[in-house]
Amino acid sequence: MEIVEEGPFRFRIPREGGMRVPGVVFATRDLLPAAAGDQALLQVMNVAALPGIVEASYAMPDVHWGYGFPIGGVAATDTAAGGVVSPGGVGFDISCGVRLLAADCDRDRLAPRLRSLMDILGNRTPRGPGRGGVWHLDARQLAEVLVGGARYAVEQGHGVRRDLDRCEDAGVLSGASPEQVSERALERGLGQVGSLGSGNHFLEVQAVDAVYDESAARAMGLRERQVCVMIHCGSRGLGHQICTDHVRVMDRAMSRYGIEVPDRQLACAPTHSDEGRAYFAAMAAAANYARANRQLLTEAARRAFGETAGCGLELVYDISHNLAKAETHDVAGAGLDLCVHRKGATRALPPGHPDLPRDLATVGQPVLIPGTMGTSSYVLAGVPGGGAWHSTCHGAGRVRSRHRAAREVDGRRLRADLEQQNVAVRASSWRGLAEEAPQAYKDVDAVVRAGEGAGLCRRVARLVPLGVVKG
Ligand code: 5GP
Ligand code: MN
Ligand code: MN
Repeated sequence: MEIVEEGPFRFRIPREGGMRVPGVVFATRDLLPAAAGDQALLQVMNVAALPGIVEASYAMPDVHWGYGFPIGGVAATDTAAGGVVSPGGVGFDISCGVRLLAADCDRDRLAPRLRSLMDILGNRTPRGPGRGGVWHLDARQLAEVLVGGARYAVEQGHGVRRDLDRCEDAGVLSGASPEQVSERALERGLGQVGSLGSGNHFLEVQAVDAVYDESAARAMGLRERQVCVMIHCGSRGLGHQICTDHVRVMDRAMSRYGIEVPDRQLACAPTHSDEGRAYFAAMAAAANYARANRQLLTEAARRAFGETAGCGLELVYDISHNLAKAETHDVAGAGLDLCVHRKGATRALPPGHPDLPRDLATVGQPVLIPGTMGTSSYVLAGVPGGGAWHSTCHGAGRVRSRHRAAREVDGRRLRADLEQQNVAVRASSWRGLAEEAPQAYKDVDAVVRAGEGAGLCRRVARLVPLGVVKG
């Protein structure tokens, strides 16, 4: 594979074979996937072969190996020119994402109550694979969740109106249709609304540790030493089943549309086909499920903070990092309707974008980047002219597989080390904890610096962990 360094934070993989566009990787040499078995750059090349792909197959600085698409991959297809949608370009955890809450208290004030707060959060946050959630729904209510997302949760008394102003799409993605969601997916999703899921998902109490842009931080409601809560979770078994179902359908349908892809995991269909529409409607339903999920966990965190520390939590922003969206972008002077896949990548709208909440119009969209439970996490903002369809990274990105991390790290030792560093850990399994060890991830500071250097985003604030409830 040829890889050309085009600038300090930009590499190009020239077209070859079936590639319709080049690959573009925003990274430093150190951040390029190097581990044996990490086929992420090969996956960047495979994605470049998708019908209708425009400009380039992009990879963010946290790129690593995934199902079909790399995690950290961004690709847009031209819907009017036979462009496709691929479930592998969204991932199994549809609309997995992050929300950040800002507490009206500082870390010094919380310190004496942190342990009891963490106990309560640990006891009340449903987590672990296959476990049930805080909300017990019947089939009719589940259908409301799939159509109404976080808005439905707020209408049912779980949150306040302002929460919706600070959610991507005001908390509900349009076009969802529960009829496109299989019985099995509904069954898996029924009891899991309001739960974290497995080990990479978490609810973390953090403190603002550095502010890079005072006025942007102020507009977002953030200040130095302030306590925050970061929630990372997605659409649980429901989203997973939807991905499985639609990959299967598209795998069978591709030949009918004359589509050939270099990897079966890139199964796809034209966005305007029956299969493409069906996937979009089901994907939107899963996205709404994920948003309601984060909204319910927010309410649980608010109650715990109110009881133990007497402080409130305001939503800074809620953003997905696994989603395909219909967006219009300027390409060579013309407005094109695109299907933008972001898989382990975050949308980063620039200042002035009409979809921003009014009070963030001059700031740009908040971008929430979890690092690890032992290092920093970041709040970034979108920038004018941001590349890759206004996208940036979504996390630190793995350097070791879950399997390898679990083999090399002892969960109990890791917990002791973190407690030593004053991070309170409420784990759900030792293995799960070991899989998510800070050593399993890239250096998040280098990742966000690369994103900023590449012109994808800018840094607003850095957060450090005080305590983590792990899935
Ligand atoms: P993913 O969505 O790819 O599973 O995870 C997103 C990112 O979350 C990972 O790349 C990693 O940087 C970060 N992450 C995983 N576990 C934790 C945690 O416990 N705390 C924080 N702050 N970040 C984490
Ligand atoms: Mn997820
Ligand atoms: Mn995620």
